[in-house]
Amino acid sequence: MSAGTVTTPMVEIKSVTKSFGPVEVLRGIDLTVRTGEVTVVLGPSGSGKSTLLRTINHLEKVDGGQVSVDGSLVGYRRSGDKLYELREREILKQRTGIGFVFQNFHLFPHLTVLENITEAPVSALKRSKAEAAETARRLLTRVGLAEKAGAYPRQLSGGQQQRVAIARALALEPKLLLFDEPTSALDPELVGEVLDVIKDLAHQGTTMIVVTHEIGFAREVADTVVFMDEGRIVEQGPPSQVLDAPRHERTKSFLSKVI
Ligand code: ADP
Ligand code: MG
Repeated sequence: MSAGTVTTPMVEIKSVTKSFGPVEVLRGIDLTVRTGEVTVVLGPSGSGKSTLLRTINHLEKVDGGQVSVDGSLVGYRRSGDKLYELREREILKQRTGIGFVFQNFHLFPHLTVLENITEAPVSALKRSKAEAAETARRLLTRVGLAEKAGAYPRQLSGGQQQRVAIARALALEPKLLLFDEPTSALDPELVGEVLDVIKDLAHQGTTMIVVTHEIGFAREVADTVVFMDEGRIVEQGPPSQVLDAPRHERTKSFLSKVI
């Protein structure tokens, strides 16, 4: 991008706070994700990584601060805000523009691979079945599973199921993809095939936020690495800084355990 070009960030998070009962899970998060960039979020269990992703996708309402995606505000100051209630329909629309890939795949067990991918485009985007199936087959080829269109999830390995989940997310043509520990539930020998698909997307300029403990992956594809602890971003920057020359003790100690 040339110097001086002004573009709206894909995600802009300002002073976001979120509590569950007495527990403050996000304690003032500021984060900007530019279009075409990959942000990798690291941090110990319970540090608030999933909650942060969920606020971006409207799965959690924030208590304070703001979240905007592609210039549209998605988080409001109060969870009971009238404005929020009035905009539920818009929220649903926005959510279809954000793909979410979960740790445990979340495929529909009673639908074939092809049906898993065509379901949302047909119901949410009103695509014809034929058009959705054509797109699904193209996406299955892209994730290396063209021959599995008629299989059921239980007939696939975890790595294959996760690649179907990625194809399903892509079928909605999202402008933003969120991954919450996409390889944590996989046997070690299946991790690489899923990371390869995500790397491929990164190289094609897909904007994404990936929560993962895969440091090699972060080093290779992240534009920005964010380290979270206890509901705060402790440090963020390019991989060469956060991974190779961390400034904070907590980052150093975390990295020494996961590498
Ligand atoms: P991470 O993904 O980094 O492991 P989470 O965002 O899942 O962290 O959780 C952060 C904290 O919030 C944890 O202490 C967790 O128990 C708590 N938490 C998450 N979701 C809920 C919920 N729906 N209700 C109550 N507590 C929650
Ligand atoms: Mg989590």
